[in-house]
Amino acid sequence: MYQQTITKPVRCSGSGLHTGLPVNMVLKPAPENSGIQFFRKDLGNQPIPALNANLSDTRYATSLSSGGVEVRTVEHLMSALYGLEIDNLQVELNGPEVPILDGSAAPFVRLLTQAGVVPQRSLRRYLAVRRKVEVVDGDRKIQVFPSSGLRVSYAIDFQHPLIPYQEISMSITPERYLGEIASARTFCRLEDVKRLRALGLVRGGSLQNAVVVTQNRFLNGNLRYRNEFVRHKILDLLGDLGLAGHRLLGHIVAFRAGHELHTRFLTALLSDPDAWELVTRPIPASENEAGALEPAVAAGSPS
Ligand SMILES: [Zn+2]
Repeated sequence: MYQQTITKPVRCSGSGLHTGLPVNMVLKPAPENSGIQFFRKDLGNQPIPALNANLSDTRYATSLSSGGVEVRTVEHLMSALYGLEIDNLQVELNGPEVPILDGSAAPFVRLLTQAGVVPQRSLRRYLAVRRKVEVVDGDRKIQVFPSSGLRVSYAIDFQHPLIPYQEISMSITPERYLGEIASARTFCRLEDVKRLRALGLVRGGSLQNAVVVTQNRFLNGNLRYRNEFVRHKILDLLGDLGLAGHRLLGHIVAFRAGHELHTRFLTALLSDPDAWELVTRPIPASENEAGALEPAVAAGSPS
C-alpha cells in the first residue's frame, strides 16, 4: 500500500544490447512521489521521467527521451522495479543504454534486493481499470478488464518449431514475479540477427544475453523454463506498464503483442479518463488498531 524505494545506492556495469556500448549504472533511493527517473550523467543532469509521455522508440526495445536526452532499452530494469513494487528510484547511466546483463530481469532483482526495498510514508496510488480497453492490430491484440489486482494472461504464437504456441495466466505478486518471470531471457531467431544488425541493432547481443533459436536447436543449450519465451513477454509487458507511473489494477489479456503494442495500449488506456481512476488501497484493520498510522493517512480509501 505504501510507496517504496531502496535503502542505499547500488551499482553495476555492462553493455547495451543494441548499441554494444559499455555503461556504468547507479541505482539510488528517491523521495516519495518522485517516480522512476533516468539520468544520462555523461550529458548532464536532465531527468528523464519513466513515463509513457516520454516514449521515443518502441521498435525492438523501449526508449525514453526528455529535453533532448535519450535512454534506451529501459524495459528489463523497469520490469524488475515493477516486480519488486519499487515506486521511486533514480537511475544514473554514463551512456545511452541500460546494460543488458544476462537478458533477463534477474540481475536487476539481485541488485535491488541487495540494496534493500523500504516502504515510504506516502500511500501508493493505483490505476484501477473501470472498463474494458483494447488495441487490435490484425491478429495481435491486447485488452484490459477491471480486476481487484493485477492479472496477466499472455499468449504467443511464432509458428516456429521451437517457439510453439505458449500461454500463461497468472496474478502478479512479488513472489510470483521472482519465481516465475524475472529469470526469463530475451530471445531471437538466428535469421533475425543479421537483419537486426543491418538496422544497427543488437550490436551488443550475444549468447550470454539472449536465447538464440535456429530451426532445430537453442544455441545456448537448455532453456531456464520450458515456456521461457512467453514468460519473457510478460516480463517485457510489466516493464512497459511501469510507464503508466502508477501500478495497474486490472486483468490484461495479450495475444502476439510486443513493446510497440504494449505502449500503444497504454497510450489508449491513459487517454481514456473514463476507463480508469486513481485509488489508494484501504489500510488493513490490524494496522489501524495498532495506531501505527497518522489518522489522515489511515483514512485513505478508494476515491
Ligand atoms: Zn525483453
